[in-house]
Amino acid sequence: MPDSSITAKCAVAGGGPAGMMLGFLLARAGVEVVVLEKHADFFRDFRGDTVHPLTLDVMYELGLLDEFLNLPHQKIETLTAQIGAEHLTMIDFRHLPTHCKYIALMPQWDFLNFLAGHGRRYKTFDLRMRTEATDLIEEAGRVVGLRAKTPDGALAIRADLVVGCDGRHSTLRGKAGFTSEDYGAPMDVLWFRIRRRQSDAADTFGHVEAGKMMIMLDRGDYWQCAFVIPKGGIERVKAKGLDAFRDTVVDMSPFLADRIGELKSWDDIKLLSVTVDRLQKWWRPGLICIGDAAHAMSPIGGVGINIAVQDAVAAANRLAAPLKAGKVTNADLQAIQERRTLPVRFTQWLQLNIQKRVITRVLASQQRPKPPLFFKLFGIFPALRRIPARLLAVGIRPEHVQTPEVGPTR
Ligand SMILES: Cc1cc2nc3c(=O)[nH]c(=O)nc-3n(C[C@H](O)[C@H](O)[C@H](O)COP(=O)(O)OP(=O)(O)OC[C@H]3O[C@@H](n4cnc5c(N)ncnc54)[C@H](O)[C@@H]3O)c2cc1C
Repeated sequence: MPDSSITAKCAVAGGGPAGMMLGFLLARAGVEVVVLEKHADFFRDFRGDTVHPLTLDVMYELGLLDEFLNLPHQKIETLTAQIGAEHLTMIDFRHLPTHCKYIALMPQWDFLNFLAGHGRRYKTFDLRMRTEATDLIEEAGRVVGLRAKTPDGALAIRADLVVGCDGRHSTLRGKAGFTSEDYGAPMDVLWFRIRRRQSDAADTFGHVEAGKMMIMLDRGDYWQCAFVIPKGGIERVKAKGLDAFRDTVVDMSPFLADRIGELKSWDDIKLLSVTVDRLQKWWRPGLICIGDAAHAMSPIGGVGINIAVQDAVAAANRLAAPLKAGKVTNADLQAIQERRTLPVRFTQWLQLNIQKRVITRVLASQQRPKPPLFFKLFGIFPALRRIPARLLAVGIRPEHVQTPEVGPTR
């Protein structure tokens, strides 16, 4: 049977935050866009839940903020760390120059379903689930489309532009022959959930002890826990046994002792292998990568979703008009890379410094840590807590929606 084929102005591979936001914005601007997502739905666990104030500002600019905030979420207004015996509030989002002065914790699938639902309002939005991009179609050195695998067989999509939003294990990156700089990471992260009781402390906090580090996010009825281990250390953790791991968690947070049995097997604990990398060149004629496909982010600061959304907004701002006119140029693609490189580079630089100066030291330490003097200043001068809040939540060169809502609705 011959392959089915379709055409679109833009083919987006990957329905994560970058791909869904880009698909939605282009369709809203009247551009025919097809978004391919290899999974059947968005209900996959552990993809990060932190929706930062900048992403909430994008929702505001789209006129969707109130509806978005009707979805269940928790708010993080301040971040507290326990370093050894001392509790310190380090970050205060309450003074940000944004509409929402907090991070919203929301399951990523709710966020993606929300974008999908709003995308479907436009006739120009074609979201295809269970459709996996497998290869590029090239003619005379230019990418002119994608090949994909679907439950009904092979599909060829001809498009003026292909956008790789297929995450840090991107297929399109490899097919395009892009090369990346790998900046390395000293740690991996073990993710798990434990029930939360109303009587538990309400703070979202990081806890640092000799050789150990754990972050706990208050998700209402459960704690989302991130336990940091040395890179490649999962087999050593497993070799010590599940009981030993449970004990270590309880040592860090004794109030979990009555619930730690909820970790019944290693299946309840997911490994995030941390990667930090960035493509040297994000584009080729007819193709550009954005989001994690262009630059995998460290989980430090929970910025990955938000950087991916910012990339999508910048890409839509630059591409909507030329896509509609059928005139996307290499200069457009280069301009997107140039615009987004500075904020991505800056964020990765911050993450790499924290990895090197804090995480590597903590994981190697044998003695109960004491907060460095610099950290104590956050306790003495609360206004200082606004600086990391701004770096984390706003970063540099925030993007604003410039694309119009002109797409025909269904
Ligand atoms: C365990 C974990 C925890 C994280 N925690 C946080 C956090 O708390 N906060 C935060 O901001 N960031 C977090 N991140 C990072 C964040 O998830 C990413 O930075 C962000 O999702 C990047 O968005 P993206 O759209 O570029 O890629 P992704 O979210 O990776 O989306 C890529 C999408 O493409 C699909 N896909 C892949 N290949 C293909 C293909 N060939 N064809 C079609 N579809 C394909 C995938 O199924 C996926 O839906 C976490 C990541 C992990 C793995």
